[in-house]
Amino acid sequence: MPLPHAWLVKPHQTQPRILAWAERYPELVELDSVQQFVGFDVYLITVTDRRVPDEGKMKCLFTQPHAHEPATTAACMDFLSQLLDGCHLDGTPTDLDRDRILNETVLSFVPDGNPEGRARSPELCWDGSKWSNEEFWCFMRGIDPRTLGMWERFDHWDLREQDPRPLSLGIVYEQIGEFEYVEPNRSHASAYFRLIHQALEKRDYDQFLDLHQTEFINSEFNCMMLLPILQEELPKPLQRENSAWAQEIVEAWREAGASPVSGPQPLSYTGVQGDYFRHRWGHIYHRLPCVSTEVHNNSPRTSPAEQQRLTEIAIRVSVARRGLTESELSGSARKEARVL
Ligand SMILES: [Zn+2]
Repeated sequence: MPLPHAWLVKPHQTQPRILAWAERYPELVELDSVQQFVGFDVYLITVTDRRVPDEGKMKCLFTQPHAHEPATTAACMDFLSQLLDGCHLDGTPTDLDRDRILNETVLSFVPDGNPEGRARSPELCWDGSKWSNEEFWCFMRGIDPRTLGMWERFDHWDLREQDPRPLSLGIVYEQIGEFEYVEPNRSHASAYFRLIHQALEKRDYDQFLDLHQTEFINSEFNCMMLLPILQEELPKPLQRENSAWAQEIVEAWREAGASPVSGPQPLSYTGVQGDYFRHRWGHIYHRLPCVSTEVHNNSPRTSPAEQQRLTEIAIRVSVARRGLTESELSGSARKEARVL
């Protein structure tokens, strides 16, 4: 299955482009970064017309943590190209109302939250033509020598404590010390979380969209929206905003001919996986509206170009939103959040 013409997902592809944008458009681009243990820089690229004060602008944070979900990176990079260069990465002109977006919004992207893992990925995209899901999962988490299937899912682990050790290192993990590894969205020690915390300290964002992909096993669907695992415990204005925003993305996918799961659902992890999310994400979920996309990965049913398109639709819907008004947020949600 052919890849889209310009598909920038590996750090040697994304980093030079991000640095070039920052140099070419200093009035539009602000760069923040943290460094991974092995040396890769992880970027937060913020785009807005910096000559127009931030006050009153809708501020949205877009991130992606998982190295095995490259279409999310490709979508961020192409959207940034449209915003900054006025054209897609393949050179075709954008239909975005750039002036309005640059004047009225502040958009921050972490296009690749784990370049170390992405650099180790054997593929630029996962289209289901070459690897079964079982093989794909072995690339994702590593190979278990006992079963020759996928290795364990840990938030934070130490190679010295593993007996037996995995036969290969999964690309979902980020090395954070000589022997230590984390899954980026489950440990605050990851570059991804360090950068998110830096971003949230710097700005009061109105919305936070986390971009993901999954395999939709035995499912007729190819995209879905996830609400926070704590959705039912959040202050009501945040619950309503999360649901409304997620539903708008679902509708946009449906209109675009995709097969979304009809209603947004709270993340359904239980046990230890659920605990990771409660502990690592609770403070963020209480602070601002947060939802996640899941777009089909590793299947001939949803090509890489389509994976990218569906992710971009979610970004576009989010950029076009008004979000909660200041009084709605500061009136109830933020007050309740402070108590919690
Ligand atoms: Zn993911």
